[in-house]
Amino acid sequence: MKTPTKRVTEAEQYLLDRIRRGNEQAWLEFVDRYRGRLLSFARAKLLQSADAEDAVQETFIAFIKSLPNYRGECGLETYLFVLLRRKIIDTYRSRQARHACLIQDTYGTQGDDQPSDPFAGVAGTDHTASWYVRADEKCELQRLALDDALSRLVDGFKSSLNFRDLQITELLFYCQLSNKDVAKVMNLKENAVGLIKHRSLKQIRKHVATSKIPVGPSSAEFEHILTDIWEFQRPSCPKRSTIGAYLLETLDEEWHKYVDFHVNTLGCKFCRANLEDLKAQNTKNQSTKLRARIMQSTAGFLNKNP
Ligand SMILES: [Zn+2]
Repeated sequence: MKTPTKRVTEAEQYLLDRIRRGNEQAWLEFVDRYRGRLLSFARAKLLQSADAEDAVQETFIAFIKSLPNYRGECGLETYLFVLLRRKIIDTYRSRQARHACLIQDTYGTQGDDQPSDPFAGVAGTDHTASWYVRADEKCELQRLALDDALSRLVDGFKSSLNFRDLQITELLFYCQLSNKDVAKVMNLKENAVGLIKHRSLKQIRKHVATSKIPVGPSSAEFEHILTDIWEFQRPSCPKRSTIGAYLLETLDEEWHKYVDFHVNTLGCKFCRANLEDLKAQNTKNQSTKLRARIMQSTAGFLNKNP
């Protein structure tokens, strides 16, 4: 069988290897790297800040316990978000944590009336994050083919700067909004949305068919699977460095508008957590810089003549 596409960079892999060998410094580095964005995510869901800190702490515990099962099929950040989100849903019964994007709280999603959620199929143990870690070859092949199909779809939109269709497919498959609601958000006719949905689904199915992978029969089921995959691979989420550039307003206009849509209109909670974390870092850097500036400029006046 084909080796799954690795979502983990070499540097991350090196860090993980050191953690697996029990290197404390490496673990500290890892916690430092992800703590801020996880805390921002948890704070957006939980009113008590002590609860948010508890949830993040438990996420790191769950992560270290699940490390032997983590095979790098989804990015480290996404994996941590999955663990945290489950923790928040299970422990704090936060309904809103089920939604990956803010816009779903306003419009509701087609999946809301069904018990199904991305975590429903997950075994109730701490060390499984999703059906991703299910050792089922057919499931694995389907996942790989769909991962690949979604990445191609999204990359195609991005490389042709077709942000309109990208936004529509995000609203449809990532957020599971109805055609009617998508039309409202995008200020388009409902049948125009239907057409883009049809075209995208056709492209995805075609890609999967060429991989000779049979995909589930009903189209509703198929769309649920797409949402699951979208949440686990986040093919459209801007990189953290792109979110940083958005914050500094150094992106090209079209990209700036798109990131703004993703973070504010769609309200992707994972990217919002990154944005909040980056803002906090900037403030910290600025205040450290300011502190250094003040210290430097006042040094000459300090206590020279006691
Ligand atoms: Zn995102």
